[in-house]
Amino acid sequence: MEYRRLGKSGLQLSVLSFGSWLTFGKQVGDATADELMTVAYDHGVNFFDNAEIYSRGQSEIVMGEILKKKSWRRDSYVVSSKVFFGLGGSDLRPTQKGLSRKHVVEACEQSLERLQVDYLDLFFCHRHDKQTPVEETVWTMHNLIQQGKILYWGTSEWTAAEIMEAHLVAQRHSLIGPTMEQPQYNMLERFKVEEDYQLLYTSLGLGTTVWSPLASGVLTGKYNEGFVKETRLGIEGLEWLKDRTLAQANLERARKLTVFAKEIGLSMPVLAIAWCLKNEHVSSVILGASKAAQLVENFQALEARNKLTPEIMDRIELILLNKPKR
Ligand code: NDP
Repeated sequence: MEYRRLGKSGLQLSVLSFGSWLTFGKQVGDATADELMTVAYDHGVNFFDNAEIYSRGQSEIVMGEILKKKSWRRDSYVVSSKVFFGLGGSDLRPTQKGLSRKHVVEACEQSLERLQVDYLDLFFCHRHDKQTPVEETVWTMHNLIQQGKILYWGTSEWTAAEIMEAHLVAQRHSLIGPTMEQPQYNMLERFKVEEDYQLLYTSLGLGTTVWSPLASGVLTGKYNEGFVKETRLGIEGLEWLKDRTLAQANLERARKLTVFAKEIGLSMPVLAIAWCLKNEHVSSVILGASKAAQLVENFQALEARNKLTPEIMDRIELILLNKPKR
């Protein structure tokens, strides 16, 4: 495993990490969840990603039980949560979501309880909240750090301008600003990481923990010949994700990339993950998996990076034709 600094912070994250969205407490049973965490930890993964909204809190409960059972030293791994969506559902009251001081503090307490840990290493604002002044959120995150309940805070899917605003507020009041962002990044979704955040890397030393490196599975090539029911995109209630992910343009790119991956002797998921790792502004690529064998395969991306020479990367660009203009 390779470890990279989370932006300009001193925290070293494994370049491949593991998250439990749609799997823990939903798609996979607790025994499989345990197996996935174990395989990840044994391969050197030191960052486990979670959120209050994942399986409406159940994902944190499952992960918390595993962390407790494993007795891995607390100082050997990093665990995150995210606040914004609350526990989801149509019965949420206004105070149970968003980035107000009240919800951020209560969400943090509740995540600590579900995960059975004394502090969260990383705490993300899962989305930007137009209903809360950014000052309120920055002060709250700073105070949670002072209280020892979180160590670093960050954002997820905020625009560069929104992140910059949070930084300026933090600077003005000598508070601790956001250390990292968690954006989607993969061969099909490049704008934020490759264009929007450029200035933030150089001026703020922003770190990134990127999500959905396989675009929920389309970049494994498994949907190239038609829909496969027994997969994430076949889960009831995820029709919105299925429609968005299996758009014609995505499938066409996946088909061409699969042929190319074979030509250079890689599997499609390994190529897609290795491609993300080539970006030096990515601190960690968060993997998702429903089976241990998928994780084992995906770890081959570390080695596969050597095959992605500038010439190969150029040939990939000719297939993707979606490089953001800078
Ligand atoms: P991916 O895009 O990599 O999708 C993972 C899924 O792809 C797996 O669950 C599995 O689904 C399939 N898969 C993985 N490897 C293989 C393989 N080798 N062969 C075949 N199929 C494979 O990542 P996720 O979308 O899961 O995102 C990763 C993490 O990022 C999440 O767990 C979460 O922690 C974080 N995240 C954060 C978000 C945010 O807003 N901040 C949003 C979304 C995710 P299956 O077997 O069911 O097909």
